[in-house]
Amino acid sequence: METTDAFAGLECVACGAVADVEAATHRCPECGGHLDPRYDYDAVSLDRDELASRPFDSLWRYEEVLPFPREAAVTTNEGATPLIDCPTLADELGVERVLLKDDGRNPTGATADRGQTVAVTAANLHGASDVALPSTGNGGQSAAAYAGRAGLESHVFLPARSGFTNKAMVNVHGGDMNVVGGRYADAVRAFEEAMAEYDGDGGGENDDGEEWYSLAPFETPFRREGQKTLGYELVEQLEWTVPDAVVVPTGSGVELAGLYKAATELLELGLVDETPALYAAQAAGCAPITEAFEAGRDAHEPVEYPDTICGDIEVPDPAASTHVLEAIRETDGGAISTDDHEILESAVTVAQHEGLEVAPSPAAAVSGAWELAERGAFDGDETVVLLNTATGNKEADVLRSHLMGQGV
Ligand SMILES: [Zn+2]
Repeated sequence: METTDAFAGLECVACGAVADVEAATHRCPECGGHLDPRYDYDAVSLDRDELASRPFDSLWRYEEVLPFPREAAVTTNEGATPLIDCPTLADELGVERVLLKDDGRNPTGATADRGQTVAVTAANLHGASDVALPSTGNGGQSAAAYAGRAGLESHVFLPARSGFTNKAMVNVHGGDMNVVGGRYADAVRAFEEAMAEYDGDGGGENDDGEEWYSLAPFETPFRREGQKTLGYELVEQLEWTVPDAVVVPTGSGVELAGLYKAATELLELGLVDETPALYAAQAAGCAPITEAFEAGRDAHEPVEYPDTICGDIEVPDPAASTHVLEAIRETDGGAISTDDHEILESAVTVAQHEGLEVAPSPAAAVSGAWELAERGAFDGDETVVLLNTATGNKEADVLRSHLMGQGV
């Protein structure tokens, strides 16, 4: 299996055992914990000048800190998205600078492409024939796209409430789409039942001899790994300065966990000497991370009746909440939730004042930043980055009906 020079295997976040990537594909063989790619950072030859000499064309330009080399990647030049100044928002928030990291400009219009390019590359190198995942929407669309490119079958479990674009595009990419009645937790259940039948590691190839390879967040170690490139891009785009705060729309937390890993690696590699404060932004109708943060707990309690228009971040039982909570506490960040009305208003404000298209779920980062400003979290001289995880035109219908509800 083709791996990069400094890649040193998969370390279990629970017991610390290190597994060989040839043998372990998902969870720790010793204890079943989540696995995390490890590197010998002394062997990483990556500095500012070297990066400056490379075109800003894809997240695979950071291949030295990814498990697999660019030449082995299943890629459509994802990442390398623009970081855009939002002067009106900066005025409104009362800070020096607000920048939108516009990950809606990825190949399938979502930040999920960063994780899926690495995870589907791993699946391909592991010899998978089929990939499968539950998704709130964008992750599933992205997985279907990359699976199509790699010539793999994809099985996507979406809740009925997922956006039309997500469902349509899973089909268009040739994926096997399973629309599950109910919400995300129901899609996860349906996925787990299907995996039990099709998972070779679980002892049960089905009658067709088919084995499914999971692309569920954190279940595969490689989605967070791809998301981590966001952190590298941010500091490089800011000419190696570290933003004061990054506000991240948060469902499963895979983006936030990736940014935290990037922050620790950038320090380790000596590329920067600070970390940004990381903030999780959630919708009030489903905010298990915010609730755990405010209560001072190390893990979330599942939300029994999630209810938000922000379907892409409606994750009531995020599997890696301890890791996400550690990330926001260790960086002196925090968690914030705002209600659907404020979130949709923020999406419209960004569209009208800055000309940028932010989907309803990532708009939680905008309204969250607003709320942080109102609570006095900023002094006035900060650079604040808001992560846009999906383009507004994926859910133009939701934004439009919000306007119509306002009588516009
Ligand atoms: Zn373990």
